[in-house]
Amino acid sequence: MNNISVAIIGGDLRFVRLCKLLIEKGIDVSVYGINHPDIPKEVKVCSSLNEIKTCPYIIGPIPFSKDNKCVYTPMSNLYISIEQFFLAAANSYVLGSVLNQELRDLFNKHHIKWKDILEMDEIAILNAIPTAEGAIQYAMQNSEITLHDSKCLVLGFGRCGKILAHKLQGLGARISVEARSTIDLSYISTYGYTAIPLYELNKHLGKFDFIFNTIPVIILDQQAIDLFKSDVVYIELASTPGGIDTKYAQQKSIRHVPAPSLPGIVAPKTAANILYQCLLLILRNQGANL
Ligand code: NAP
Repeated sequence: MNNISVAIIGGDLRFVRLCKLLIEKGIDVSVYGINHPDIPKEVKVCSSLNEIKTCPYIIGPIPFSKDNKCVYTPMSNLYISIEQFFLAAANSYVLGSVLNQELRDLFNKHHIKWKDILEMDEIAILNAIPTAEGAIQYAMQNSEITLHDSKCLVLGFGRCGKILAHKLQGLGARISVEARSTIDLSYISTYGYTAIPLYELNKHLGKFDFIFNTIPVIILDQQAIDLFKSDVVYIELASTPGGIDTKYAQQKSIRHVPAPSLPGIVAPKTAANILYQCLLLILRNQGANL
């Protein structure tokens, strides 16, 4: 036992798998807002949020909240309002993710120490692997053609965009990548993809069989959507609001595939291991001897 205790609040299957990894490391684990038969018996399953008040570390779900009103609890019927959560977490260090400005302001207003773990490159890059595999799985499930020899557009060349383009290349797809940075555009050409500057995007939109979006800002408006091939498959990877005018895309009967939280869905054990590495990193940085 190393006297470290961690509370897990809400979350998907990856957090169930994380429980086991933490218990094996001798860390005390409490959970609230997550139910699953695989939660190890050594884990303290709390019946109220009050029971986690003494935990120095709280790991929140991914994403932390979908509406800025309640904590995301896909594996429980419990409703945990953000305000309730803040009362319980007053003295803890909260590891959250996909924390938008409103949530960050709320954490700060309540003087709660927080970190957005998906902003840590070490974590976000590894997390991009199950995300890319999941995106490819969703693309295959939603089309009648192979990815091999298909025309794929990846929007954005950040952590997910880079890894996804690389994996699509391995499958023999013909890849174009959009970016706004001239440095990214040079890298995109260097890797053998077709580089598309954002300002030229509309000129190219009509040729793709698959569009994978990793940009969390709407860049595809009605005019852009009108240029799509009618049988294009659009996979939305980015967090809210995503990259497209969803209402209009639906109106135009575009095959729009929401693909949130892929690591927890397609590879929960791998995703748990990534979270575990993240937690160890943070705990060691805080001086824990692990
Ligand atoms: P990232 O490394 O920050 O990359 C984001 C990309 O979006 C960059 O290429 C960035 O370009 C571009 N971008 C941002 N704002 C833009 C704007 N206003 N106009 C044009 N381009 C813009 O993020 P990431 O780690 O790849 O994650 C991408 C998204 O996927 C995020 O929303 C993240 O939450 C989400 N995500 C989803 C899953 C899932 O399972 N669906 C898993 C992981 C992440 P610049 O570099 O020029 O800023």
